[in-house]
Amino acid sequence: MFTAVINKSAWHAVGEQIASLLTFINRTYSETGQVKLASRDSRAEPVVEFNLLSDKRDVDRLMFGFRKMAALQMTDMVKAVADTPFPASYTDKVRKIGVVNDKNKMLTAVIAKLLDGPQALRRYMIENFVVEGFTFDQVMTDGDALEEFVKKNTIGVWHASCTCRMGRADDPMSVVDTQGRVKGVQGLRVVDASVFPIVPCANTNFPTLMVAEKIASTMT
Ligand SMILES: Cc1cc2nc3c(=O)[nH]c(=O)nc-3n(C[C@H](O)[C@H](O)[C@H](O)COP(=O)(O)OP(=O)(O)OC[C@H]3O[C@@H](n4cnc5c(N)ncnc54)[C@H](O)[C@@H]3O)c2cc1C
Repeated sequence: MFTAVINKSAWHAVGEQIASLLTFINRTYSETGQVKLASRDSRAEPVVEFNLLSDKRDVDRLMFGFRKMAALQMTDMVKAVADTPFPASYTDKVRKIGVVNDKNKMLTAVIAKLLDGPQALRRYMIENFVVEGFTFDQVMTDGDALEEFVKKNTIGVWHASCTCRMGRADDPMSVVDTQGRVKGVQGLRVVDASVFPIVPCANTNFPTLMVAEKIASTMT
């Protein structure tokens, strides 16, 4: 598992005022996502189900991580420099205000000024315009609320992979052999992040390049 302390949550003025304590799992137990064809039309987007928390152990680990982060937030040293903690989520609202444009720049400048005002105003703004769903106190005192919060708000970090996994000929779930050749199809190889047998517990760009280099080096 991984923890990050971030003193600026986004490029804009509000992001500069909101620090984050972030926890995530690099190597999950949950590995049962799937990609399904949505239609017989090859141009149609497939249905992708990441199913990020299919294994309860990952839910428990994230709840544990959240409680650790929250305990830090409750220490006197952190309380002295930060207040009004809230359980953060990457909602549509956050996504929209995160788009880099003049409108968001101006809007966030105004909100940031208000957040700098009296604590009561800051609390009102955060509870009414930032938090969606649970408050900090709710998730800290009610285990069910924390579990629901974690299940609803967990996101992935763009490491989609393993949909065409490489494996032995007798593995019914493998799609390609060690050369990237698609089983049962002549003249077709897949050489990208989709052939990973499991999601790597690190960034995926270099492993993708390595797969490509390795398979290319064996071809004449
Ligand atoms: C926002 C974001 C941030 C990331 N940050 C990092 C990072 O910091 N470090 C890191 O290691 N990894 C990072 N990754 C992950 C990394 O980029 C991917 O794991 C890696 O690029 C996967 O390589 P790939 O070749 O499998 O797929 P891609 O790089 O997605 O390549 C697929 C290519 O196929 C093309 N394509 C799709 N459909 C068709 C079609 N029908 N016909 C022809 N071409 C088509 C696409 O245009 C694309 O060029 C990030 C990913 C995202 C989305």
